[in-house]
Amino acid sequence: MSEDFIPLAAPNVGAREAANLQACIDTTFVSSVGPFTTEFERRVAQATGSEGAVATSAGTTGLHAALLALGVGRDDLVIMPSFTFVASAAAVAHCGADPWLMDIDPATWLLDLDQVERELGRETERRGDHRVHVQSGRRVAAIMPIYTLGALLDLERQKALAARFGLPIVADAAAALGAHSPAGEDLAGGADLSVISFNGNKIATAGGGGAVVGDPALLAEVRHLTTTARTSSDYTFDRVGYNYRITNLQAAVGCAQVERLDAFVATKRRIRTRYDAAFADTPGVRLFPNVEGSNCWFSGLIVDDPRLPTPAELSSRLRETGVEARTFWKPVHLQAPYAHAPAADVRVTDALWNKVLTLPCSTALTDAAQDRVIAALTPMLAEALCATTRPTPEGSPPLP
Ligand SMILES: *Cc1c(COP(=O)(O)O)cnc(C)c1O
Repeated sequence: MSEDFIPLAAPNVGAREAANLQACIDTTFVSSVGPFTTEFERRVAQATGSEGAVATSAGTTGLHAALLALGVGRDDLVIMPSFTFVASAAAVAHCGADPWLMDIDPATWLLDLDQVERELGRETERRGDHRVHVQSGRRVAAIMPIYTLGALLDLERQKALAARFGLPIVADAAAALGAHSPAGEDLAGGADLSVISFNGNKIATAGGGGAVVGDPALLAEVRHLTTTARTSSDYTFDRVGYNYRITNLQAAVGCAQVERLDAFVATKRRIRTRYDAAFADTPGVRLFPNVEGSNCWFSGLIVDDPRLPTPAELSSRLRETGVEARTFWKPVHLQAPYAHAPAADVRVTDALWNKVLTLPCSTALTDAAQDRVIAALTPMLAEALCATTRPTPEGSPPLP
């Protein structure tokens, strides 16, 4: 990698993280207990408006434990949007359940709650304490909204909808740390349990790691399940437990990062605003959704004109100029392990996913570097349209 290479989303770590790591070494607290773990949980709880938090080894393991704590089990169905990172679906599959895939709202890229309401009304019925998918006879066990790009929208609506059908909510808030709803509500208020990721490409990282926030009684169950389900120090266990703990080393980095969260969110929003200003009037492309309160985790464009190079082509051409850009999530219903999963009409997802181009948005990105990205991409978009809008010889049909 050349010095001038501009990465897509690199971790922003430095002296504070280093000092915390050194403290772990000095005190020998490097493993799964330690003061940073406790402090990390306190800070994540505070940042999300939760009474508590349970740190986990990853976002994916946090999601798995949250689903288990809410009783999701073998052959159940969990409603979620197909347009997500595949880990959301994997966590459901780890419970022996299947996702029931739904579409997104094109204006926000968030779970289409109108469709969820329609499908639950049309395809399910109540049997005793359960909500059952009539055609398959399978229990619908939970709804999993994804806070895509760090946006939370209708928290009250999603809770009212879930309550009406007697379903719990596990929110995949992997990339949403630091976000609020447009009404100013805290993240943890939108679901029974919400799960944050501290993977390297998220807004704050712990190297790797996750955290579950939400209802205190459910969090106690999550803690039990993620710490081997031990009931006493004499090696007695009451469940099949998991070792999903974070280490004090990871939490040490995570603590320093959460301390910097407000600055990270401000930078992410500024990066988004600058890209939006640069490309707002560019023909053939559209901007990412703008939901108030979003942490603007990722920036990029929707490449919406068939005459333009595809996002994959643009990414490889940008790479030649030292700029890392990428395509975005290929939806779950197109992934082989989930081909059998029930899916509603997902036409919005189908029309969107391969038009998305993500652009460099590290919190360490300088204005000068971002200007270089804009300067590299602008002619690639303009050339393609110029080439096809030149006047055609008289009498010949216009190019498609
Ligand atoms: C990153 C991410 C995950 C997975 O988190 P890990 O910490 O990498 O396991 C899950 N869902 C979404 C939407 C994500 O962006």
